[in-house]
Amino acid sequence: MHSVDVLIIGAGPAGLAAAIRLKQKDKGLSVMVLDKACDLGAHSLSGSVFEPACLDELLPGWRTAVGSFVSQMRPVERDEMYFLTSRSALRVPAFLVPSGMHHAGDQIISLSRLVDWLGQIAIKEGVDVYHGVSAASLLWENGAVKGVRLVDQGLDKDRKPKENFLQGEQVCAHTTILADGARGVLSREYISKVGGNKNPQVYSLGVKQIIRLPQKNNFGPGRAIHTLGFPNRPDVFGGSFFYSLAPDLVAVGLILGLDWRYTDLDAQKELELLKTHPLIARFLKDGEVIEAGAKVIPEGGFFALPKLVSQGAILIGDAAGFVNMEKIKGIHYAIRSGMAAADAVVAGDLSTYEVNLKAAGIWNAMHQARNFRAVFQAGLFIGAPLSMVQRYWPLRIGMPKDHMRTQKGACLKRTLKPVIDRERFAFLSGTMHREDEPSHLIIADAAICARCEKEFQSPCTSFCPTQVYERKAKAIHISATNCVHCGTCSVKCPFENITWTPPEGGEGPRHKMM
Ligand code: SF4
Repeated sequence: MHSVDVLIIGAGPAGLAAAIRLKQKDKGLSVMVLDKACDLGAHSLSGSVFEPACLDELLPGWRTAVGSFVSQMRPVERDEMYFLTSRSALRVPAFLVPSGMHHAGDQIISLSRLVDWLGQIAIKEGVDVYHGVSAASLLWENGAVKGVRLVDQGLDKDRKPKENFLQGEQVCAHTTILADGARGVLSREYISKVGGNKNPQVYSLGVKQIIRLPQKNNFGPGRAIHTLGFPNRPDVFGGSFFYSLAPDLVAVGLILGLDWRYTDLDAQKELELLKTHPLIARFLKDGEVIEAGAKVIPEGGFFALPKLVSQGAILIGDAAGFVNMEKIKGIHYAIRSGMAAADAVVAGDLSTYEVNLKAAGIWNAMHQARNFRAVFQAGLFIGAPLSMVQRYWPLRIGMPKDHMRTQKGACLKRTLKPVIDRERFAFLSGTMHREDEPSHLIIADAAICARCEKEFQSPCTSFCPTQVYERKAKAIHISATNCVHCGTCSVKCPFENITWTPPEGGEGPRHKMM
């Protein structure tokens, strides 16, 4: 059994910012970071147009530092928004774009690279960073969190120990910081126990591709484009983004609210459909998809925030639900909430965390955007104008869990044959799992799947971006090795019949530029 002062679960921007800050403030603290990815940044995925001011506070002088992350980020030089119909595109004038959606001064980055860079800094500061280590559950003692238990390694498909079996160890800590991201297994366990949220957390699914363009291309450097409209129906929340990562590299993504009502919505196919739009096809002409990935984004906002502190534990970043919905950005909040948590730990009083969040501006901004996502339940054309005035409505607008909005018989019936199908998408994510391990995706009751097929036509066979779920011989067959750890199935199954559990450490996607 290991024991440390501070244990951080998740080596994302939040967890690593907390780790760095802890060591900056108190060199004598023992700080350990555990992450399930095979490498730093391999499970990280975001847009990402980044507000870098938070790094000025965490790492003064970082802008002149040498490092792949710093030299590879690109300032936004052209910031555009379009409304798309199926064949045309209308440029939205800047004065009509909500203030939160302007990106001048922001940097186009790869979150995977940012995480790798922060991880190297944390290691230099003396933090013990272990990737390839999966945590299975929290250790509780008299209502207090005392650390975590790691996943057992070396089980066969029937959960019998193989020769190399290693029982999951316990890691004990005075304080455990939960930074395991959206739908993180440990943060979910923590939230289900301590609660505190007024609305359930709701999510969007983001599907993203990195596309290599010819040197001479129609997109160009320093460009950030956002779109609304096609291929989304007005009742589906979301939009797309296109960011220049380099003169010949563009990050392309589609974000879709998981409260969509359609039983056959396949986000990866929707992204491929978007790429057929004349404007987008011109931008991406002769491009080659070289990387892909998917991830859910917590969008419930202020009213979905759970109790952030309990005895022995603090919740930070996406795990807490810190995303600014007016900007649909969360990396700067992840970093700032990590710093706020570290300051509370060093002060020896975890209850100061919320005070620190207020001082960092997160609380106020989350409160201002408190009903932003909720008003879009009425669809784009009602939600968009309401979103501009929602901050003046003092009361909470309720939101059901995403899966409850799936509607029997609602279908998109897309006929597109995508260039990148879901199998190819899984391949491009680099995802890998041991073939002979127990499935990390658990269906609680096969009889419910039969009912789901009759009532909802098994939406899991559509909503999983890598086609992990297929109907075979009247049963749901699971290809767990294709899973990219996006979290969708644990949110969107109409009967909450699927549980996502952590597989062995080092498995899952292998992102490099996401
Ligand atoms: Fe995402 Fe679930 Fe499919 Fe894995 S199985 S890729 S978590 S929807």
